[in-house]
Amino acid sequence: MALPNMYYADLKDSYLFYNIAQKTGAYLEANPDKHLYRMGIGDVSLPLCDAVIKALHEAVDDQAAKESFHGYMPECGAPFLREAIAGYYAQKGVALSADEVFVSSGASDELGDMLDLFDRSNTVLVMEPAYPAYVDANVMAGRKIQHLPASRENGFLPAPDESIQADIIYICSPNNPTGAVFSRDQLQAWVDFANKKEAVILFDAAYEAFIEEDTLPHSIFELEGARTCAIEICSLSKTAGFTGTRLGYTVIPKDLSRNGMNLNAMWVRNRTTKTNGVSYIIQKGGAAVFTPEGQKQIHANIQVYKRNAKVLMEALDTLGIWYCGGKNAPYIWMKCPDGMGSWEFFDYLLKEIQVVGTPGEGFGACGEGYFRFSTFGSPEDTKEAARRLVALLGKKEG
Ligand code: PLP
Repeated sequence: MALPNMYYADLKDSYLFYNIAQKTGAYLEANPDKHLYRMGIGDVSLPLCDAVIKALHEAVDDQAAKESFHGYMPECGAPFLREAIAGYYAQKGVALSADEVFVSSGASDELGDMLDLFDRSNTVLVMEPAYPAYVDANVMAGRKIQHLPASRENGFLPAPDESIQADIIYICSPNNPTGAVFSRDQLQAWVDFANKKEAVILFDAAYEAFIEEDTLPHSIFELEGARTCAIEICSLSKTAGFTGTRLGYTVIPKDLSRNGMNLNAMWVRNRTTKTNGVSYIIQKGGAAVFTPEGQKQIHANIQVYKRNAKVLMEALDTLGIWYCGGKNAPYIWMKCPDGMGSWEFFDYLLKEIQVVGTPGEGFGACGEGYFRFSTFGSPEDTKEAARRLVALLGKKEG
């Protein structure tokens, strides 16, 4: 008998997005004339920018002619894209060689696949509330998970302490779902901790392009000592609208070794065994993101989402409701008013003002009593949702 991986039986069903779909579906069935203001989505709403579209078209044409046709691409990424990404890091003051950059089909793929590099006996630290894939990918691999709950008291940015016994540490900054961003000093504390314990940090930087405060780190490699303890996982999904086009990149420094094994070399071996590279066409589109024109255009799109964030933050300020995020991240994490539970607040907003967000409890137990708004919706819907929030909760407060 082929024995299946029985750790899959340990996975807890995630009811979060299923429940949201069920509840909104039922509401629309009962109220077919109503429009929903969807502030829960983690997907982008703006199309790819012109520079990317032009590069994609040109790459398709390349594939039509014998002289410019590309077959299999190098497994770890096309040199033109690896170099473009290393150049992007150089602008942030981070020196990388192109062969420390690995092109991927997206951060989700990497967050799971990267675990191949680690023994099953490792303990994994997940700071919660968290992006659900961190926990599930490790449950599937049968690893022990230590949950580190964050709270309003620490700004949803927990610090390391001696009670932590983890070998692999997930850090997501800017954070999904809280929008909180580690300062340089706070992140340095985690880098120092990881080096001391010989742990490895998996740094999820999917939202780095949303950082607007100069003092905050975009990359963990801006910090001293990170080259010997961290892997950085990035994505063009939210930065450049590649959610459906699929492209990401991962940085594994050559200085990162454990127990005599070099993780950069191991990942080269992994990729050359398990993939045949990312499509030439998509990599050409991705390279356009890192041109001056591409950067200008993606930041114009990011500004649209940032204006949405501003509209929602102003509404919460008007209402005197506590929140974090929004400024350096596309998510706003608010305290539910009047001690409401997160699903209770979800139902209340759906019924009263047709605004849909994401209950915090879906990101870990310590998210109960909180609620996430995404800023990726349309400006029109965001403005109307904010207006409705103020009208409803202002009336309640008064
Ligand atoms: N990491 C975080 C924190 C995310 O929020 C997401 C997507 O929402 C991802 C990774 C996955 O990104 P990708 O689309 O590149 O797989």
